Amino acid sequence: MAAMGAPLASFAAPQTGRRTGPKRVAVGGIRIECSTYTPILTRMEDFTVSRGQALADVPFFSMLKKYPYRFQPTLLADAVPGGAVEASTYQKLKSEFLDRVNALLPLDGLYLAMHGAMSVEGMQDGDGDWIASAREVVGKDCLITASFDLHGSLSRRIIDNLDMLSAYRTAPHLDREQTTQRACNMLVRCLDQHIRPTMVWSPIPVLMPGERSSTRYQPAKRLWAQLPAVNAHPGVLDASLLVGYVWADEPKCTASAVLTGTQPAVLRKYVLSLAQQYWDARKEFQFGVPTGPLDEVIEKAVSLQPHPVVISDSGDNPTAGGTDDRADVLAALLKRHVRNVVIAGICDKPATDACYRVSVGRTLPLSIGATLDPKASKPVHANARVRFLSHMDDPLGRQAVIETAGVSVVLTERRRPFHHIYDFTSLGLDPAKFKMIVVKAGYLEPEINKIANPNLMALSGGAVDQDIIHLSNYHRIPSYPFQPNLKWKPFAVVSARSPQQT
Ligand SMILES: [Zn+2]
Repeated sequence: MAAMGAPLASFAAPQTGRRTGPKRVAVGGIRIECSTYTPILTRMEDFTVSRGQALADVPFFSMLKKYPYRFQPTLLADAVPGGAVEASTYQKLKSEFLDRVNALLPLDGLYLAMHGAMSVEGMQDGDGDWIASAREVVGKDCLITASFDLHGSLSRRIIDNLDMLSAYRTAPHLDREQTTQRACNMLVRCLDQHIRPTMVWSPIPVLMPGERSSTRYQPAKRLWAQLPAVNAHPGVLDASLLVGYVWADEPKCTASAVLTGTQPAVLRKYVLSLAQQYWDARKEFQFGVPTGPLDEVIEKAVSLQPHPVVISDSGDNPTAGGTDDRADVLAALLKRHVRNVVIAGICDKPATDACYRVSVGRTLPLSIGATLDPKASKPVHANARVRFLSHMDDPLGRQAVIETAGVSVVLTERRRPFHHIYDFTSLGLDPAKFKMIVVKAGYLEPEINKIANPNLMALSGGAVDQDIIHLSNYHRIPSYPFQPNLKWKPFAVVSARSPQQT
């Protein structure tokens, strides 16, 4: 229970105008990260939507049952990162969420599980729209807390409609549940003690891909490491730093420092300090592993004796919003006659379907890749032998393992990452036995990172190209590194709902 020990302000904290009786709280939200550099929209079928009791039963939220108040479930929509959310899909999800919240009124508290990097077709600041709409329904007396991914971006609209916020402190994200606990502990504490907290935010005009701002490496490691100590100061309820999201061309996309608490002067002091430190470190953010153009990375991997070398196909990483359909790495491997490699995976429904039409062991001609965004990349044409077919009712969608010229490829019906050893073994693949493993990823998640010997990152093309300096920018505010000589001094924004001003 991370933030529960932080001492409160010595002065009488501002009081909420709460009604008496048992507290009524609810939970819901939408979590997706959207690249605006892909034309592929995220549609209803791409979301996993949990409603009512099914949301209450989601294992991730089981910790909510430990609180003294029952968190009434509304609607939670989750999706693998992708392109902007289709406008009609967003409106349907939002309306149902708001109807479900409305049916629970009056509410004393609302917990919103958000990512913070949602783009919606034809709209700026989708997360701000969702949160402001929730505020309109629950009214001004309800306290709203939110959890954010540290790759989320904040806006004035978001800040002005929330009362408190907690963001992940690790990338890769190892503290998802702790972050939910921080956000909900804070809500329960404020409800119990009749506190209306203050939020102080400093937007920092720096944008880095997650691969250059992992908390495994400096300078992010030291910047984030200080947050628990800042959180422990009297008057601070939560301290969060957010990297923001670079592959969305929206004005809100920046890094942020944001503190929640009861002593505005203290919050202001630390938020300005964190923002200044982040700004001062902006030129230090670097990739944590060796990187290079795709051809160079493959050459290096071939020359290395140890195995398995894990190559991150970073430009097509679905967990950052990549399309997940590109076959560039397969083409490069076949051209060099590299063998004993597994590529996990390539999303290609037609090729997957073709494999299911024949049996395991059969060879068939396939066109592999470039089915979701045919303008952005080219397919590979090859004769391939079907090695494995997953169960038809696999919740991740059907998956086929094929082999062509010594390269095994996992074809998937749906976009998905490969983060765990089980993701391979469940398809009859032993990842440790391959000379090379290619994953569509940026930084590696812990299990794959553990077997990487070593990890090399290919700066490959795609919707989440690491070559961010060449991204087209029409809506973004001036920020580093797009304006390398930008001058900036940190400033603090106090949220409109805060009872006191600095
Ligand atoms: Zn993230």
